[in-house]
Amino acid sequence: MEPFEIRHLGPDAADREAMLRRVGHTSLDALTDTALPDDITMSEPLELAPAASEAGIQAELQRMAAANHPGRAMIGLGYHGTLTPAVIRRTVLENPAWYTAYTPYQPEISQGRLEMLLTFQTVITDLTGLPSAGASLLDEGTAVAEAVGVARRKQRKGSVVLVDEGILPQSLAVLHTRARALGIEVVVTSDPLEGLQRHDAFAVVLQTPDADGSVRSVEELTTIAAKAHENDALVIAAADLLALTLLPAPASWGADIAVGSTQRFGVPLFYGGPHAGYIAVGEGMERQLPGRLVGLSQDRHGTPAFRLALQTREQHIRREKATSNICTAQVLLAVVAASYAVYHGPEGLRGIASDVARNARRLAAAITTAGHPLVSDTFFDTLTVHTQGAAPRYVRAARERGIHLRFVDLDHVGISVGEDATEADLAAVAAVFGGALTDAEAGSLGQPEREPGYLGHPVFHRYRSETEMMRYLRALADRDFALDKGMIPLGSCTMKLNPAAALEPISYPGFANLHPFVPAADAQGYAELIADLEAQLVAITGYDRVSLQPNAGSQGEFAGLMAVRSFHEANGQPERTVCLIPASAHGTNAASAAMAGMDVVVVKTAEDGSIDFEDLTAKIDKHADKLAVIMITYPSTHGVYEARVRELCELVHAAGGQVYVDGANLNALMGLAQPGKFGADVSHLNLHKTFAIPHGGGGPGVGPVAVREHLAPYLPNHPLVPDAGPVTSYGPISAAPYGSAGILPISYAFIAMMGPALREASQGAVLAANYVAARLSERYPILYTGEGGLVAHECIVDLRPLTKRTGVTVDDVAKRLIDYGFHAPTMSFPVAGTLMVEPTESESLAELDRFCEAMLSIADEAERVASGEWPADDNPLHNAPHTLAEVTADAWDHPYPRSLAAHPAGVKLGAVSTGARDRYWPAVARIDGAFGDRNLVCSCPPMDSYQ
Ligand SMILES: *Cc1c(COP(=O)(O)O)cnc(C)c1O
Repeated sequence: MEPFEIRHLGPDAADREAMLRRVGHTSLDALTDTALPDDITMSEPLELAPAASEAGIQAELQRMAAANHPGRAMIGLGYHGTLTPAVIRRTVLENPAWYTAYTPYQPEISQGRLEMLLTFQTVITDLTGLPSAGASLLDEGTAVAEAVGVARRKQRKGSVVLVDEGILPQSLAVLHTRARALGIEVVVTSDPLEGLQRHDAFAVVLQTPDADGSVRSVEELTTIAAKAHENDALVIAAADLLALTLLPAPASWGADIAVGSTQRFGVPLFYGGPHAGYIAVGEGMERQLPGRLVGLSQDRHGTPAFRLALQTREQHIRREKATSNICTAQVLLAVVAASYAVYHGPEGLRGIASDVARNARRLAAAITTAGHPLVSDTFFDTLTVHTQGAAPRYVRAARERGIHLRFVDLDHVGISVGEDATEADLAAVAAVFGGALTDAEAGSLGQPEREPGYLGHPVFHRYRSETEMMRYLRALADRDFALDKGMIPLGSCTMKLNPAAALEPISYPGFANLHPFVPAADAQGYAELIADLEAQLVAITGYDRVSLQPNAGSQGEFAGLMAVRSFHEANGQPERTVCLIPASAHGTNAASAAMAGMDVVVVKTAEDGSIDFEDLTAKIDKHADKLAVIMITYPSTHGVYEARVRELCELVHAAGGQVYVDGANLNALMGLAQPGKFGADVSHLNLHKTFAIPHGGGGPGVGPVAVREHLAPYLPNHPLVPDAGPVTSYGPISAAPYGSAGILPISYAFIAMMGPALREASQGAVLAANYVAARLSERYPILYTGEGGLVAHECIVDLRPLTKRTGVTVDDVAKRLIDYGFHAPTMSFPVAGTLMVEPTESESLAELDRFCEAMLSIADEAERVASGEWPADDNPLHNAPHTLAEVTADAWDHPYPRSLAAHPAGVKLGAVSTGARDRYWPAVARIDGAFGDRNLVCSCPPMDSYQ
């Protein structure tokens, strides 16, 4: 078989030659030697193992997966056995049409996943009883922390949050990390009512069922909530979603916010992640919601259409004023969870919950009959057994039978029943405790069951046969433009190949079904994988240590800034809180700095797009005593290798500050330069950009934080897994010890299959960007270039002159590109009125040319508007994208022909074997976002409105 490198790199040798000629260089080395500053260029090749073959790496990952022992996970603590319906696994999780899509910022080409995300929000609002839910958070732990943040902004009183001691230990630890940075005091209480009397809290967090499985009665919950409201405190419920199909909705007993995980809705355990967290809020708080919110609007013909609601006001784009730093979330997993709810419907979900509850009761009967008392008699799926000091013995005995129970403490064992528990598993657990399972009716939940009035929308009733479900999922996927349809040249997002050989291993049972809290001896395969991947990333970046815990780039930023803060505190300089950030930085940078309790100071951009050194030195001088860190992106978000980066690092260090290099652009550095060696102290990387994890339509991600030795003591750790990080740390920043562990095999395999040829990947990315820049510069100015007139791995195409001359806007060009069969580049970031193009190394020359020709043809079209041939408000750009319905309608009253709308110049039609491609038709025409924001609808209306 060909080496993987050949498959990964789009252009072949001859194409590469042609591209090099076009950009005026004789070799890849000559090109990057010119583009990069000499004082950062690596002189040695990457210290990576020689490239492995596709078959070889799969065999190795199979061996690692076999070194994990998932057994039957009955540990609980927020992670539960579940059965992913095969139709969902094959049609969603393992389908590039779903997993290679980008975040739905271009709603016209994202209607499929937006519909499923609206369904996700509906599942959450229906089951929690609260009116507004977001389209996924990163995990339950961060969801609790985000909810506390929402409550604090809403209530604006005091700094105490009261937390039920039954909270999941990892959620409490994540909350501690976040609270510490913001000066919030976390008070843990065994008696929330009494706690509310003693403390003037702004919120109280209640876990239900709690970590030990016990469920408070509705009367008790109602009393606590009433007391909280009397004190002007908000009530946050951390609730198990499956339990909510039987237990009262949090809103019904007074909760203002509900959060949790949707993992047990069909998402594999994945050793802790990726899973979608959820959040729902009461009336009047929707504008405080962290993360993305999908809502209904309409297109220009009045057709209902989905899009991200309140987008520009609410997201990390607001920088330090943002509600949270979340950018990449967990879209693919939210899609799986929503699909699970669609496939099972309310009756099915209730049936699964009832089976789980009944099996827990049968186990309880067997265990108590054998003489072991339970800690609580009111439970849903989780029992805590009192074992009189013999807990280790029972846990060991169960493990010998292939079942993982929870070791609570010497006296207590936890047993959590999931959807996947078989009769044999249950009988084995009963036998471990000297009991026998019976079939006897095992009693009720111990409290009245909820009325089944939820999930009334037809979507939860139509797709119960596998045929219907398969077609529904296919129909949604067809509405979306993903990498399997064409190039997605989004600047800053690195939409490269996600190799199938690297993706298959995530479904190996040894990786997919492992619970994050199994004994270390049963996770040896992951331990090896994690250590090897960390070593690979160390070799690539030149840093000393890496933590894989952050489950998005934004979380890596937060982890890195917390490390910087801890470092200054340990040096007796807690007053160092100023974070310098260039004006052009990605919005998450400033949002993360605010979360870490830092004060953001903006550094100006010079005329040529580089950092304004005069302003930089002035800001350093002004804040010298308080300077904590500078956060820069390299190459810069302007797509240029700035010449003076080493000097910048030295200036900041001389003033006692640290240097954070946002590593989201590492695709331009692999094998060429190493931030850990050219002066930076800390970076986060985006494995879902540079290292081939698919974007999943807006997540999952992995945002490892990499540091030099002096910051290593402050990498995140985990309360339940000592190996996950140093004891000297501030705590965890994600719920799971290794964040999105389940997708780490993808990056590991990608790096192993490329080996030292990662350098050619970066060079290929730089070549592709310069080739596109050279071709487009015939008609559009390229805003910034560096040494030798070169860009790095992306380029900013300036549309402002075109807009000024012709009235055609960035939006018009982006939407017209859909007619040509492309996903638009990044719009108006980092400069308004521009497009940022990042082609990546994986696109072939033919596809790059197709894109360039589309852009040049669009420039011609714009001139026809300028010349008056087409009116400003009725031309193919203004009206784009065109739908099939529109171009096939009987009426056509535009001044340009249908054929130009349907098949613009440059779109080749005919047999695919000749290089033509079928036209992608968007499901809707251009969407009116403002209309949706004025009439906010963010869940599917109930069944009644459809009858
Ligand atoms: C993508 C990106 C981020 C944020 O990463 P997420 O994983 O989306 O949180 C930060 N900085 C830059 C420059 C990026 O491109």
